[in-house]
Amino acid sequence: MRAISILVIAGIFLGSLTLIGGESEESYDSIVIFRNDDVTTVDRGLRDLESIFEKENVPVTHSIIPSKVEDSQNYSETCGELRNLSSIAIHGYNHDGQEFKYSKWDEIEEKILRIDNFSEECLHGRPDIFVPPHNAMSSSARILLNESGFEVISADRKMAWQTGSVTVRENRTEFLEERPLELGQSSMLVDHWYTEPVQFENFSNIQSDFDQSVEDNEIHVQVLHYKALMENNKSEKLEGLIEYMKEEDVYFTSFGELVELFAEDSIRFDGDNWVIKK
Ligand SMILES: [Zn+2]
Repeated sequence: MRAISILVIAGIFLGSLTLIGGESEESYDSIVIFRNDDVTTVDRGLRDLESIFEKENVPVTHSIIPSKVEDSQNYSETCGELRNLSSIAIHGYNHDGQEFKYSKWDEIEEKILRIDNFSEECLHGRPDIFVPPHNAMSSSARILLNESGFEVISADRKMAWQTGSVTVRENRTEFLEERPLELGQSSMLVDHWYTEPVQFENFSNIQSDFDQSVEDNEIHVQVLHYKALMENNKSEKLEGLIEYMKEEDVYFTSFGELVELFAEDSIRFDGDNWVIKK
């Protein structure tokens, strides 16, 4: 009995020591990442979207279509503006249908080469995050993207740890060395693309997607398309969603920060909560 009591007391002291050392831990029911797709230029709509996220103090990652930027008339100016965005990802090469699902091996290699050249020239370095167009990719595309060193792939596949189905221990550095984190889409704002204007998903369905993620302790990847959102004056829809999410005990982060948390061994999932070291 005495040995147990001593262990308990030692545990309490250890807990206090971590606090004294300036580190603390916070627990959350879910983690939320916003992904904004189909960025080809930095226009008024994109700036307005950025200011909504800034005002809300919530990160957002913009996924860029390289060939559309290359075709733009103000190429170098656009590149400069893209480099100034808070967080960027690569969204395929030309977004020509499901190009990372239906292209042959050598075509995918060629696309990755073009992405690398574009990234060096325009972005002064390649982003670590890859978002295949239409969330679709083949297994050969996955192999080639792994080999080319992307740290995150955000498509339709969700791994068990994203959905809160398995506990995530600390010490995941090794995992990161072997493969990218796969963080699949959880919810999308647009429902139908082929109407004019595009049809947005019913707000209550988007809320339910999020509620389900909170219940399942999922890392919730919320996808939006700023052009459709801003052209159709739906920014209040986004603000309403962020406010709705803030009522829950969730941690807003970016793909980049999440990778860092894994790399620094500062995140774990204990079966009930995501625990983040600060
Ligand atoms: Zn897209």
